[in-house]
Amino acid sequence: MSSITIQNVSKAYGDTKVLHSLNLDIHEGEFVSLLGPSGCGKSTLLFCVAGLEEITDGQILFDGQDIAARNPRDRNIALVFQDYALYPHMSVRENIAFPLRRQKIDAETIHGQVNWAADMLGLTKLLDRSPAELSGGQRQRVAVGRAVVRNPAALLMDEPLSNLDASLRVHMRTEIKRLARELGLTVLFVTHDQEEAMVMSDRIAVLAGGHLQQFADPMTIYRKP
Ligand code: ADP
Ligand code: ADP
Repeated sequence: MSSITIQNVSKAYGDTKVLHSLNLDIHEGEFVSLLGPSGCGKSTLLFCVAGLEEITDGQILFDGQDIAARNPRDRNIALVFQDYALYPHMSVRENIAFPLRRQKIDAETIHGQVNWAADMLGLTKLLDRSPAELSGGQRQRVAVGRAVVRNPAALLMDEPLSNLDASLRVHMRTEIKRLARELGLTVLFVTHDQEEAMVMSDRIAVLAGGHLQQFADPMTIYRKP
């Protein structure tokens, strides 16, 4: 796990500024939600933190080190998206193992890590299935398994629950929260759902029009909407 420091970060697409000098100091092991309406810049900020978008101004530090200086493959940041993006031609086991295979880790270690992640996520009996044979919630778990299997320094999630039906969404909130706590993961979680942010987060960053409006714990935000 890592701390994430976002310092005076601005982002523009051409002449359009979408993030305005944001400052966020995310502690090691903290669960932080980025909350706000569609178009306020949540995903853009997440992509900047992931190193997938270049920032126009400012700095993003992991444990005090500028990520721009690091090779993307050495960043050890895991991402989970709304559409899961599982490999359809691979089994659940192969999907979860994929990030480890890319690192040329030996087969025995991979096997152990995949079994560990599957066990934690209740996927042990589904390891030989293909993604097409899974429910939405199970696919979501595989995506989370693939993300956490290599012990990432940080887990970045972009509306990971929004494609699930209401009761499963509530269940997965608890699951993801539990997993993050057990692994001590630093999590940045994008959502437009206020209730979701309230129940999951240690702190919530409220964005509006690319500006940071509040950054506080859920109770403080609830009292002062
Ligand atoms: P959110 O995740 O909060 O819905 P986004 O970060 O996706 O918001 O978008 C923030 C703003 O940036 C929006 O106005 C969007 O249209 C704009 N935007 C996002 N990506 C691009 C892009 N590649 N080119 C131009 N504008 C973009
Ligand atoms: P790189 O540029 O590092 O070689 P890759 O093309 O291997 O990147 O993929 C990076 C990530 O994008 C993968 O870890 C996976 O999450 C996602 N991805 C790429 N291709 C696919 C695909 N065909 N199906 C699902 N996810 C994919």
